[in-house]
Amino acid sequence: MKRIYFDNAATTAPYAGIAEEMARCAIEYYGNPSSQHEEGRRAAERLEDCRARMAACLGCRPDELYFTSGGTESVRLGITAAAAGVARSGKKHIIASAFEHRSVLDTLSALEESGFEITLLGVGGGFVRPEALEAAIREDTALVTVMYANNEIGSIQPIDALAGICNAHGVTFHTDAVQAAGHMDIPLGAAGPSLMSLSAHKFHGPKGAGALYIRRGTQVKAQSSGPSKERALRPGTEDLPAVLGMTLALERSLSSLSASAAHMRELRAMLIHGIESAGGRCLYTGGPHLEGIISFVYDGIDGGALLQSLDMEGVSVSHGSACESGEYAPSHVLLAAGADPETARNALRISLCASNTAKEAEEFCLLLRRCTDRLRSLG
Ligand code: PLP
Repeated sequence: MKRIYFDNAATTAPYAGIAEEMARCAIEYYGNPSSQHEEGRRAAERLEDCRARMAACLGCRPDELYFTSGGTESVRLGITAAAAGVARSGKKHIIASAFEHRSVLDTLSALEESGFEITLLGVGGGFVRPEALEAAIREDTALVTVMYANNEIGSIQPIDALAGICNAHGVTFHTDAVQAAGHMDIPLGAAGPSLMSLSAHKFHGPKGAGALYIRRGTQVKAQSSGPSKERALRPGTEDLPAVLGMTLALERSLSSLSASAAHMRELRAMLIHGIESAGGRCLYTGGPHLEGIISFVYDGIDGGALLQSLDMEGVSVSHGSACESGEYAPSHVLLAAGADPETARNALRISLCASNTAKEAEEFCLLLRRCTDRLRSLG
């Protein structure tokens, strides 16, 4: 049985050929990019070539990009380094949206323990309102962090407007673009965010590879110790094969953006129709959104049971909330967007990629109906 993989916001399969390119790179460019000899220089050249190509994709300067081990590290490094950079001038207030990814919320909790004050902005309906950000900024605001696109409901935040407000107030602005990078055009530059985090495995690159963009002139202070690489921001020898895999995947993703989006828009319409005609509800589909992410719920049907039932039929989707001891807690994203606790506990997420097909979408709708009918009949 060929499985239907609809969990691409969790991770994507690497593009064909990428793993082979990475293996070749690991063998041919094994030198340490910091070493002062031929092997080291060759590896360093390859690393800088990747940085220049990634920068060309993102529309920034190569020296504004730092390689990391993925989204979680980029987010943590970016937020802590920016907060520490600004805190030197006594500013200790941070603003974030209430439905940030755990990697951001956990970083903010740690900063709160070290004396920062955190304000969380509401995201009713799935969006941060620029007026709410404007109203929340204070004299002592050090940093604002708002995700580019939400990982559970796909809503794309008004990043241009938020960045504009922060820039006008001279406040550093970080955006977690882990779900957006490689899926949409993200303009960087003086009018954009000061920092941006991205992760390769969300756009068909390898796991354990990410990047942090830091606009020139942004105040940052490195927090880690150890032999400094990446211009003293991050310790540890760079993983060149992973960086190459990320670069190739980003180039490939961006070269087919509009065709991919158009294809996923068609699948999205089919899936929303299929879910709703089988009695389900699709959540927060209005406003700008990533075409590939759909959150849905069947009232009266346990989300965990539906997920398992779909899995047994050969379909992979995901649950937005954390499962602890077999019990799902309501998703903090859906609660923040305004869902009731029952909906927030039972909603599931479909996340597509460009290689999903209309045939898979049709098959999914049939299987979903079969699963929901069966679960309803079991009471
Ligand atoms: N931020 C968002 C919005 C995410 O969806 C994820 C992963 O799901 C992360 C950060 C963490 O990225 P990584 O898995 O590369 O650590």
